[in-house]
Amino acid sequence: MSSELPRRSTRSAQSAQSALAAQSARIAHIGIAVRDLEEALRLYHEALGLPLHGRETVESDRVTVAFLDAGDTEVELLQATDPESPVARFIEKRGEGVHHIALEVDDVEESLKNLSGRGYRLIDEEPRIGAGGVRVAFVHPRSTGGVLIELCERGEDGRP
Ligand code: ZN
Repeated sequence: MSSELPRRSTRSAQSAQSALAAQSARIAHIGIAVRDLEEALRLYHEALGLPLHGRETVESDRVTVAFLDAGDTEVELLQATDPESPVARFIEKRGEGVHHIALEVDDVEESLKNLSGRGYRLIDEEPRIGAGGVRVAFVHPRSTGGVLIELCERGEDGRP
């Protein structure tokens, strides 16, 4: 387990601070794994009143997602379309709940290089196209203290 932890020197900690300062840090969305999208929308959209602004099926991830506005960020509800998909396996193992946190970065490719150079384990070595047609990549939760982090690049309309 400890072999997977990134080694950090004082110098890399300092450059990490400056790298963060140079980048806009915003939680683009919080991904929540749900068994039933309609039931989840009754909570987040109907009962809590978050505006629903998008729904799509992402074939590569075998999920149907719904995006809801939540102030400066969003809630992404994910329902698996295949019992063998990562979201289905997540729910099977851990139950419904918070699945990932998406951080908006200026350049996904650059962030991936930076993270792997520091010893963090990546799920996606290269950016790929995720929901909303933006470039995304996931960082493995085993090297991030159990949090699945999605990096996503700002869309042309200013939102991922
Ligand atoms: Zn996401």
